[in-house]
Amino acid sequence: MAQRGTTRNGVADKIPASDLPQPVKIQQVRYTKIFINNEWHTSASGRTFPTRNPATGDTICEVQEADKEDVDKAVAAAKAAMQLDSAWRKMEPPRRGRLLHKLADLVERDRKLLATLETLDTGKPFLQAFFTDLEDETYLCLTRHEPIGICGAIIPWNFPLLMLMWKLAPALSCGNTVVIKPAEQTPLTALHIGSLIKEAGFPPGVVNIIPGFGSTAGAAIASHEGIDKVAFTGSTEVGQLIKEAAAKSNLKRVTLELGGKNPCIVFADCDLQMAVEEIQKGAFYNQGQCCTAASRVFVQDRIYEEFVRRSIENAKKIVIGDPLDPQTTHGPQIDQQQFEKIIGLIESGKKEGAKLEYGGGAVGEKSLFIHPTIFSEVKDSMRIAKEEIFGPVLCIFSFKSKQEVIERANNSQYGLVSAVFTTSMDRALSVSGALETGTVWINCYNAMHVQTPFGGYKMSGNGRELGEYALAEYSEVKTVTFKMNDSM
Ligand code: NAP
Ligand code: MG
Repeated sequence: MAQRGTTRNGVADKIPASDLPQPVKIQQVRYTKIFINNEWHTSASGRTFPTRNPATGDTICEVQEADKEDVDKAVAAAKAAMQLDSAWRKMEPPRRGRLLHKLADLVERDRKLLATLETLDTGKPFLQAFFTDLEDETYLCLTRHEPIGICGAIIPWNFPLLMLMWKLAPALSCGNTVVIKPAEQTPLTALHIGSLIKEAGFPPGVVNIIPGFGSTAGAAIASHEGIDKVAFTGSTEVGQLIKEAAAKSNLKRVTLELGGKNPCIVFADCDLQMAVEEIQKGAFYNQGQCCTAASRVFVQDRIYEEFVRRSIENAKKIVIGDPLDPQTTHGPQIDQQQFEKIIGLIESGKKEGAKLEYGGGAVGEKSLFIHPTIFSEVKDSMRIAKEEIFGPVLCIFSFKSKQEVIERANNSQYGLVSAVFTTSMDRALSVSGALETGTVWINCYNAMHVQTPFGGYKMSGNGRELGEYALAEYSEVKTVTFKMNDSM
């Protein structure tokens, strides 16, 4: 019997020497090529590299050396396997589970061979390679959810108070301290909240609010060595800068809520008037200055003309005016720069051949008001179909089939929200499963609640705000493990 506590081979120390597993004899290593699509490939470059036995310094064998071209091939294979109608995507979870169990059985079958290869390649003692787990010890593990520490927050001007709260509430709930920069255009509500923080009795330093500019104060937060996490809402371009600054400084955690080019799909069987009204709320709410704006509205060909007609009728009800007047439903854009960007995009729509159905420019001269604008006959290749407008512009496209519209809806770098209008529950569910967005609204728009997680797929962001998921973004999980000597 192996002497306990001397060999340090863990579980193996408790097994009689005669029962210990033995390495297998390997004449020649069998698998040395690149594994793509369940097939073995030689490298595109024709190169190989040796893998050595650290115990002897000898070359065990030559392995095919993958480079960019091979990575491209592997990515293409993984992409094909991820298509909506692929065997893997259509596989029911229990069948996936059976495959994983089967794999585990096969690993078990080849355990000695695997342990031998591991020992040859790493120099790890064979019994340690064989017994990689700690199966006969008893441990008690507990997890602690701890604050991340000092959380930076950079927020935009379109919903200054709301975005402040989306970050402040989970950060403080989890016990963090915070440094917040409101947008340069809209610092006032954030500063007032500062006074309320003090009045409520939070200890000094827990919440710090620093009005300033993005390229100075904002950039200083993103690259700060003493900040442990940064949460950002704003443009995708600045989101990329934030992540880069975090990576180059201290790898602080990053959550991002970025832009969208949000598809709405209106099927012919929908409640048409309801769809018109919900989508228009989505397109024109807050003068279109929403990351969730309904910006690509795909309408099935049979109801297309009627949808356009009713959209124009509905837009006529919008009341443009002094935003302090309770009758007003449409105010100015935030500033001159945004105003000019939106006007530029509206002009590009006219030039590229979209049909202007309503609005189409500024309200009067020397103001920041823009008419709610409706374009029909929009083509996927136009700038207004691809770029985030962040203004009151509704773009209407026509489509024929479900398959076609899903492909077009997903053909975007963004993936924030989408909406589906249909009375078929089956269609609503299948389309919502196929859309690559963090939120899908069925027969409604902008329906957000503090309990429902919010965030983007693809370049619309990383992480989730709101709901229980937001708490995970503001906490670290620590595993504490006790060895139990007095087990039952
Ligand atoms: P932005 O530049 O992304 O601004 C958002 C926030 O980031 C502001 O607090 C801004 O500060 C700050 N910031 C800017 N540059 C920074 C940097 N280099 N490092 C750290 N922080 C920085 O957005 P914007 O210029 O106001 O608007 C441009 C476009 O962004 C819009 O047209 C729209 O497409 C998009 N946008 C999206 C959202 C959204 O909710 N997802 C919100 C606003 C804008 P300053 O205010 O001082 O520049
Ligand atoms: Mg900016």
